Amino acid sequence: MHVAIIGNGIAGVTAARWLRKLDDAVRITLISAETEFHFSRTALMYSYMGHMRWEDLMPYEPFFWEKNRIDLVKNYVEKVHEKDNKLEFADGKTMLYDNLIIACGSQWNKFGWPGQDLDRVGGMVSAQDLQYLEEITDEIKTAVVVGGGLIGIELAEMLHSRQIPVKLLIREASYWNNALPPEESRMVSRHIRSHHIDLRENTELDTIHDDGNGAAGSITTKDGEKIDCQFVGLTAGVSPNVSFLKSSEGIELGRGVKVDNHLRTSVSNIYAIGDCAEARTPRPGRRPIEAIWYTGRMMGETVAYNILGRSIEYDPGIWFNSAKFMDIEYQVYGEVPAKGRDGLATLYWEHEDGEHAVRINYEESDGTVKGFNLMGIRYRHEVCEKWIKEGTHVEQVLQNLGLANFDPEFYKQYEADVVDLYNQQTGKALELKTRRGLSAALRFLRKAVST
Ligand SMILES: Cc1cc2nc3c(=O)[nH]c(=O)nc-3n(C[C@H](O)[C@H](O)[C@H](O)COP(=O)(O)OP(=O)(O)OC[C@H]3O[C@@H](n4cnc5c(N)ncnc54)[C@H](O)[C@@H]3O)c2cc1C
Repeated sequence: MHVAIIGNGIAGVTAARWLRKLDDAVRITLISAETEFHFSRTALMYSYMGHMRWEDLMPYEPFFWEKNRIDLVKNYVEKVHEKDNKLEFADGKTMLYDNLIIACGSQWNKFGWPGQDLDRVGGMVSAQDLQYLEEITDEIKTAVVVGGGLIGIELAEMLHSRQIPVKLLIREASYWNNALPPEESRMVSRHIRSHHIDLRENTELDTIHDDGNGAAGSITTKDGEKIDCQFVGLTAGVSPNVSFLKSSEGIELGRGVKVDNHLRTSVSNIYAIGDCAEARTPRPGRRPIEAIWYTGRMMGETVAYNILGRSIEYDPGIWFNSAKFMDIEYQVYGEVPAKGRDGLATLYWEHEDGEHAVRINYEESDGTVKGFNLMGIRYRHEVCEKWIKEGTHVEQVLQNLGLANFDPEFYKQYEADVVDLYNQQTGKALELKTRRGLSAALRFLRKAVST
């Protein structure tokens, strides 16, 4: 059996690894137009900021592929002939397959802004985006970044690390407030400003202006403000990279490639995984397209089992995500809607330094815990997931909060303060059960130091 995989990102590479792990005989071809070898997309920024060399972004040594008999092809797939089980490449070559995995990822959005195709306008998704930014960095005196999701803040931080003043324009009233609850959103907004990035809320891009030589020289906002800049970063979200599939009529597309719970597309020997896959019936609490790292990895493993005839459904479990907003680590588990919902109670504790916070959401009616949002603090995935899955009562969670602390040696413990806050708000007298002595000692020490 020959399995061809379009895309050598985390989803495609995981599929290839699991196919080999499960079957010694299957022939595997991993195709990418972007780079010869897989690299860690989430670490792109660290290369630009000088924290890692390009070769450090590659988790597998070059010999790994040959050793595991995974054939690498660097080429662009222009068309999938799904009736003939054939791929057609940009250079005219073709390849036959028995099963195909589409793992073609995302591209950055352009919303038809005048000037969006000028030079010195770019996104930050691919190795080519990074290379382009490197090439033009010396020409950039000031930059504008448009769109304040996870990639926008990274791009702003990258430019800032090269001493380039950045204005970060966001449509919303505070950073990423369609995903973060108001307190956390305001915390990140403050944090961005404290790093001397000029965050402009309620500000939308109207036009990017030519400097007279075909490159960006300034922008105007919808309010008519003109801002000079030599680079415009477009980071207003990403979309599945599926335009090359539009002529393959048998493969049903929505925003992405439509898949069932086994990650199979409308063509029985073609599967789609990672950022480009769109679930027909997403699990409760999950979205049809989830452009995040670990779900790509999970889908890669699941699809390998399905192709090899060991039928399993894709089940990403409880919602989880993590990222870093400059110096603030962020984790979310379970249900943490930006605007809350009726019947969902929330306990929000924030440290006075304004850079650490814990939010615990629970059902008002019966106290079952529903979600955690953590800023500047890490909690253990398996512990939070278990509590949510088992519908643990919030008071039991609070009493055992020490169990969730990711690394008590390394991360400070704020569990006692969170429990104190709950007691103040409810008139209860809960105490931490686990690591009580340690927490009490830490509280004593903290008080002693601050007085
Ligand atoms: C800057 C940045 C930071 C991020 N940070 C985080 C984070 O902190 N946490 C998190 O969970 N997620 C993060 N993400 C998202 C995460 O990186 C993606 O969800 C993940 O990499 C997607 O993996 P994938 O395998 O689906 O696709 P990709 O990694 O996008 O790989 C797809 C590959 O397919 C190739 N391809 C596409 N079409 C064709 C074709 N026709 N022919 C040949 N090759 C083709 C592409 O060139 C690409 O190499 C970040 C993304 C970016 C860009």
